[in-house]
Amino acid sequence: MVRRRAVTLADGRALFYFGDLPERPSDYPDRRPLPAVDAWSEARWDRLRGEWVVIASHRQQRTFQPSDDQCPLCPSRDGRNTEIPAPEYDVVVFENRFPTLRGQDASDLPAGDRSPGPQGPVLFSRPAGGRCEVVCFSQRHHASFAELNPAQAAIVMAAWADRSAELARLPGVEQVYCFENRGADIGVTLPHPHGQIYAYPYVAPVTDRMLRSCVSYRRATGRNLFDDLVQAELAGSTRFVLRGTHWIAFVPFAARWPYEVHLYPVQRVPDLPALGAPARAEFCELYLDLLRRFDRLFDRPAPYVSAWHQAPVRRGRADFALHLELFTIRRASGKLKYLAGSESGMGAFANDISPEAAAEQLRRLG
Ligand SMILES: [Zn+2]
Repeated sequence: MVRRRAVTLADGRALFYFGDLPERPSDYPDRRPLPAVDAWSEARWDRLRGEWVVIASHRQQRTFQPSDDQCPLCPSRDGRNTEIPAPEYDVVVFENRFPTLRGQDASDLPAGDRSPGPQGPVLFSRPAGGRCEVVCFSQRHHASFAELNPAQAAIVMAAWADRSAELARLPGVEQVYCFENRGADIGVTLPHPHGQIYAYPYVAPVTDRMLRSCVSYRRATGRNLFDDLVQAELAGSTRFVLRGTHWIAFVPFAARWPYEVHLYPVQRVPDLPALGAPARAEFCELYLDLLRRFDRLFDRPAPYVSAWHQAPVRRGRADFALHLELFTIRRASGKLKYLAGSESGMGAFANDISPEAAAEQLRRLG
């Protein structure tokens, strides 16, 4: 059982220490003279696409690529106070000081949807609500997730599950999303190894589309679409990368990115809190293996996005399957795949590496 201790930062934000360090968090109060968080954001309904867009203009002031000795995610040491008051930690989660989403949804729209509906106004907005948290994977500034040992990764896993369960209980939260952007190429503003958690006040567009596909598949066949997809990959596909007892990792049949791997538990669960202990333990081993393969693909560590897809808080929990999607934006040494006209203008992806070839290459890197 991973230990969790909560403290409050000088401006009232919550911070959680996961693991054994520091021994006594109360010995390290936050002594910074911080003004209260001044964040406000708005969710606007895109009537044509049927999805929400968050407008959060205050984010322009956030810290951008500070020098190593100014890192806000390192422990507080030698008289320098960072976001983490203790001089040492295992894993830390805290509320983002520059959040995209914050506060409670004050609207009286029904939970579970919150869109204005076909009769609603053409231009519709509401306070965004929700919450954004930062997860520090290690106190070591130059580490990466791939360099963690399985025990340290297990503490991160415990933190993800804890936050997913707790944030889902906040009023107005419809979905919790844990993710990591890694590498300056992908727009990461702080090099210290960390991820983020967004508690959305709506069901994210990608999840919404997946759920609609699941519902129509179930109506047509009586079966679960995720189960049938995983079964198809388990039954001798040429796209698998890793197989364990509890997980399977494969390049998806219709991969969008040159190197993209999806990691599914063999036994479908809706979200991280629902994962059993053996599956959690095996995930850490397989995920570390996978990240290290990604780092061996090119002559330097791969920039990547790692995205946990979880069931929404209220909708589609019987249909949705927890899984992780990992992809790099690098397509060859020194070459990035940019989301250009077709992808960003039309949402139409074209991939110039076959998923079967990418899977074979990733298998060989073991
Ligand atoms: Zn740091």
